[in-house]
Amino acid sequence: MEPGTAAAEPARDCQLCPRLVAFRALNRTNAPDWFNGAVPSFGNADARFLIVGLAPGLNGANRTGRPFTGDYAGDLLYATLIEFGFATGSYDARPDDGLTLDDCMITNAVRCVPPQNKPVPAEIANCEPFLRARIAQLPKLQVILALGRIAHDSTLKALGARRSQYPFAHGARHEVPGAPLLIDSFHCSRYNTNTRRLTPEMFRAVFTDVRNLLPQRNWLGKSGSRRVPV
Ligand code: URA
Repeated sequence: MEPGTAAAEPARDCQLCPRLVAFRALNRTNAPDWFNGAVPSFGNADARFLIVGLAPGLNGANRTGRPFTGDYAGDLLYATLIEFGFATGSYDARPDDGLTLDDCMITNAVRCVPPQNKPVPAEIANCEPFLRARIAQLPKLQVILALGRIAHDSTLKALGARRSQYPFAHGARHEVPGAPLLIDSFHCSRYNTNTRRLTPEMFRAVFTDVRNLLPQRNWLGKSGSRRVPV
C-alpha cells in the first residue's frame, strides 16, 4: 500500500468491533477450520462494477473466506453474475471452485460476520472507511450495486452523500455528483427470495440495467467468435 493510502481491506484479525471480535473467537473455538476473519473483497482491481453486500453469513462467507460463497444468497448472486457475463466458470460454493469475476468486484458493508446476521450501527460505522477506500481504489469504477438498505446507506456515507437526498428503493438509480452511479436492489437473501420480495426476474432486471450501462468489453469466446453484449 502507498504511504498515506487508506486500507481498502481490513486485517483478517481486525480488532475494531469488540462484539464481532468476541463472536469470531467463539466461532474459532467451535469451528477452527473455518476462515473466521474479516472477509476480503473478491474481484478485479480494474472493475467498472462494484457490488456491496451486507456482511458475511456465519456458515457461508465466514466459513469459506469469499463473499457470498456458501451463503444461500450466493446461489442467486453468482448465477446472475454468470448469466450477465460478470463472472466466468461455475460457482460451486467453494473458494477454490475456479470461478472468476469479470469487470466486477464484490465486497460487504461489514466485513466480519455479525451475530444473527445483524450488525449494529457502530459496527457499520467502523467498517465504512474500508468501503470508502475500496471505492476510491477502483480507478475504473462506474456503477455500484447496493444489496439492501444497509449497503445503500453505507455506500452513500462512503460517497459523502446525504441519505435523505437518495432514499433506498429497489431498482432506483442515484446520481451522486462526482461519484459512480449507485443502483439499489433488495438483498438476495433467503428471506427476501422465499417471500418473493425479490424474485430472480426482479434481480435480472437490475442486472439488465447494469449491463446496459456497462456494455461488455470486447471478449473473444473459446470459438474465437465475438460474444454479443447482452
Ligand atoms: N454473504 C455475504 O458475503 N454478504 C451478504 O450480504 C450476504 C451473504
